[in-house]
Amino acid sequence: MKKIAYILLSLLIFSACEEKKSTETIEKSTEKPQKPNENNFGIVLHGGAGTILKENMSDSLEAAYKAKLTEAIQTGYAILEKGGTSLDAIEKTINVLEDSPLFNAGKGAVFTNDGKNELDASIMDGKTLNAGAVAGVTTVKNPINLARAVMEKSEHVMFARDGAEQFAKEQGIEMVDSSYFFTENRMKSLKRAQKREKVELDHDDKTAFYDPYIKDDKFGTVGCAALDKHGNLAAGTSTGGMTNKKWGRVGDAPIIGAGTYANNATCAVSSTGWGEYFIRGVIAYDISAMMEYGNKSLQESARKVIQEKLPKMGGNGGIIAIDHKGNVAMEFNTAGMYRASMNGDGELYIGIYANN
Ligand code: ASP
Repeated sequence: MKKIAYILLSLLIFSACEEKKSTETIEKSTEKPQKPNENNFGIVLHGGAGTILKENMSDSLEAAYKAKLTEAIQTGYAILEKGGTSLDAIEKTINVLEDSPLFNAGKGAVFTNDGKNELDASIMDGKTLNAGAVAGVTTVKNPINLARAVMEKSEHVMFARDGAEQFAKEQGIEMVDSSYFFTENRMKSLKRAQKREKVELDHDDKTAFYDPYIKDDKFGTVGCAALDKHGNLAAGTSTGGMTNKKWGRVGDAPIIGAGTYANNATCAVSSTGWGEYFIRGVIAYDISAMMEYGNKSLQESARKVIQEKLPKMGGNGGIIAIDHKGNVAMEFNTAGMYRASMNGDGELYIGIYANN
């Protein structure tokens, strides 16, 4: 009798342990991948940072910028709301900005010193850490689409100039005649920059050439970062670079870690500003690294990098970013930055100047 009771007790303890083990396994497996959260998604974009002052802006131009920023952010938001991917959302959002002459990307790209338009772009998938980038393309209508094709259809990360164009043709990416990128305003900016450069060089001011922000040449690089309902982050950036650039100059926009970075463990970031400093400061990755290794919040990391580290180096500009929980940062150390965001509750924010 005693023996039977002992066996029964052992069986009872054994089955209780097994049940606990299986509960533990279930609990753990629900942790990763992150459970889709219907409202835990969001999107944020920039349309360039610089000396953007209210007193230099007409009401109609300001309204045009706001309308385009709204259209772009709502395009990406609609994709996310339906359960689409962050990669699709950022690509389509950037396309809206690339197709507008208001921004220095795609249609509104600035001119190089010899009167050409050379475009750069990059994209990164926070889930896989895969990335794609293109530099110096001249006939690709939407360079962000080509960057995505490099990421998804090639085994490489970055293509430049002729090779990138050839790959674009092979992939059926939309091509245009280089005259598509001509805009009167950007041509005037080039002429102004060249006139100023001549005066400054005549006065032996060797620093003048690379001082486009202080000298108020227009910018307007575009970028976007998003978190989708599946918990995946992505970021992308597209630009014409800097007015009057020479010698095949490439800025930070197509450099992963400088102009663009995304990692599901931390955040997704797109940069805009004086590219040379963003490359040297590895700005986008630095923000992610502070979160990953320093356990800092997105806001704290972005502020430190943009308000302390970057100006200390002599650079200026800004970033937009979103973290894996949907928190958004829009940090800049210039007078203004075209920016917009929407959160999972559908709240829209549009900003241009420092105080909105
Ligand atoms: N970062 C871009 C570049 O250096 C320019 C900009 O963002 O305005 O090419």
